[in-house]
Parts: sequence; structure tokens; C-alpha cells
Amino acid sequence: MRKIDPKRFQIAKRRTSREINRQIALTLIRTHQPVSRADLARLMGTRRGAASVLVNELLEEALIFEGATGEGGGRGRKPTFLYIDSRERYVIAVDIRATRTYLMATDLLGKPLVGITNFPTNRDVDVLISELGKRIKAMVAENRSNATCQGVGVVVPGMTDHGSGRVLHAPTLGWRDVDLKDALSAATALPVQIENSGRACALAQVWARGGGHSGDLAFVSVSDGVGVGVVVNGEIVRGRNNIAGEFGHVPLSIDGPRCSCGATGCWEAYVSNLATLSRYFGRNPNESKPISAENATFTIEDLIARARNGDAKALAALHSTGRYLGLGLASIINAVDPGRIYIGGEITAAWDLIESAVKAAMVERALTALAARTEIRTVSVDEHPRLRGAAALVAAPAFAAPMVA
Ligand SMILES: [Zn+2]
Repeated sequence: MRKIDPKRFQIAKRRTSREINRQIALTLIRTHQPVSRADLARLMGTRRGAASVLVNELLEEALIFEGATGEGGGRGRKPTFLYIDSRERYVIAVDIRATRTYLMATDLLGKPLVGITNFPTNRDVDVLISELGKRIKAMVAENRSNATCQGVGVVVPGMTDHGSGRVLHAPTLGWRDVDLKDALSAATALPVQIENSGRACALAQVWARGGGHSGDLAFVSVSDGVGVGVVVNGEIVRGRNNIAGEFGHVPLSIDGPRCSCGATGCWEAYVSNLATLSRYFGRNPNESKPISAENATFTIEDLIARARNGDAKALAALHSTGRYLGLGLASIINAVDPGRIYIGGEITAAWDLIESAVKAAMVERALTALAARTEIRTVSVDEHPRLRGAAALVAAPAFAAPMVA
């Protein structure tokens, strides 16, 4: 039976069987394109006439277009095929980090359209929204094609209420209960979606896979902090208070280093880029917070480069991060037992250096030997998982809920 979860996306609030059928059709076209009308009807398990009514509606709304294959040549009408129309619409993706904020325009399938720009993140939210608003408006103005901007997707390093669009708590930014969605929407005159960065990255993985086959996964985004998104049975897990999956703030040790959230010993305080840098510079993490990254001229990339050039201290700092990373991954495995865990962030560039330490820690703590072998897949910085996650926030609800099982 096909079903779509009505809770995850706003579009599904007006849930009717017509709405569901549209979403199923769009998901099938996206994952099978190019697809003929007859094949679509077959895939949907419906009569060709019923599918055609739907297709005509989607064509009228320019969500899909009909194109020839360029082959054929036989007599009679050339077969035409349906495609998702990603030409006339685009999305602006925003990744707010504690140190810098990144912007990118993508088509509705997440393909980058222009280069990424970035600027330092001002933690005063009014200043940040004003600057972001100006930059987004400039991006829209510079787009000379006829394409229209479908909306702005924003990922933040913190707990968010996806429905209200408020940032509940972003420790590395020092934000609590901040209205981001409405304020940014007012500044840009565009619809805005916001989400926790780890969850958005997880959503992008589900979305990229075309729905239905992703099942259970977790995405761990390691940067200034640690964001985790958990997908169970194809659904992003949010929890009652929107903090579900915050493994970054689950303690590895109650006596551990001070975390951005104020507690001690959180996983994040052991594995974030700042934690790795602190370890390298030999600062006592129990006494002070790691150096704030906007003041740091020495980055995690520099540290990785030094490790590759034979700096034993740099290599040791990375090995420790690898071990702590593995211990936390074992917690995720023991708690949610996902089919696969994705890791994003700069640390993935050092994966060959730390993988054995990560895997050894997983074996040490995962509850069964089979669980310890849970597949880990790195997503490189060049793939821009967070910006793709931000784009998916707008693109996925526009086209379909990702899970059609
Ligand atoms: Zn914490």
C-alpha cells in the first residue's frame, strides 16, 4: 500500500486523496524520468485515463513538462515523455554556521546554479537577517532567466521548530527562541523554511534517493558543533519538543570538556572541529570553552594538512577525534540501529587517517558484532550536504513527501 506521512510537510496538511495522488505521481516521475504516461499509469496502479487527468493538471501548473525522446521515427504519434520541470524554478539555500553563513542557488533537484558565496555570521539575529535579506534579494535580482525563486531553505546549527520556523536553541550562536522564518520571509518577500542542519542533511539523503528505499538512516554533521538527523521508517524523527536526535549533546562523560550548550562532556565537546583544534593546541578543555572559530586563523583543514605532513601532534589530535567519533556513533547505533550512517563535515577529508580509530571504537561499544559493522558513508564537503539539505527543505515539499512506500 502506498502511503504518505501527512505530518511532515505543510503541503500535506490539506491532505486529500487527490493531493496524495499528485505527490505519488510527482515522486514517480522524479525517480523514473523520463517516463511515459502509460508507464506512469502502470507504476501508479491506476487507469491510464485517471493518470492523464493528473498529468494534465501537473503540466498546467508547470511542475512537469512533456518532451520527446528524440528517437522513434515510426509512423504515427511520437511517444512523449514526462520530466520534472526544474527549469523554471529555483531555490535559495542558506547554511548558517556559528562562524560563517553560506548561500547557494539550486534548481529544484538540488543542482547548484551559481557559485557559493559566504560571509561572516553576525550573531545579532537582526543584523544577520538584514544582511541575509539583502544578499538574497541581490541573488534574485541577478538571476536574469525567467525562472522564479520558489523559496528560501535555511539550515541552522540548533534545535528548531520546523512548523513555527523558530530557532528554539542554537548553542554555538547563543540563540534561544529566535524568530527566523517570519523575519527572513518579511525581509525577502519569499517563503522561508528552516530546519536543524543535521535533519536537513538527512532529509536531503532521503530526497536524493528518490524516496521509499532509505528506511532508517542517520546523518552526523560535524563542524563548529555536531548536528544529527535521524530517519526511522523513512520519517525524520522530531520528537515532541523538537529535540529528538540531538546526539551531539548526549554526554560521553559527565566530567568531560565544557560544551557550547553549557553542560560538560557532550559528544560535541569531544568531536567538533573546535574540540579537535583545542586538543591540538593543548588547551585544557575543562577550564575554558574552545577558542571561538571566528578568532581562529588556524582551521581544521590546516590541522589535517599538518597531520599529512608528519606532524605527530596533529595526527594524535585527529586520532582522538576519530575514537570519540566512533564512541558516539556506537551510541547512535545502540539507540536507533540505523541501516547506514552518513558523516558530513571537514573531518571527512581526514577519513583515511581516522577510519580505523572510528571503527575500533564502534566495535568496542556497539551492542552486537553485526551492529558494529553498520555502514558508515562519508559525504565530502564538496558535495555541500548542508546546502543541499537547505534546498531540499523547499524542493521536497514542492514536489512530494519523500517517503512513498
Ligand atoms: Zn552540549
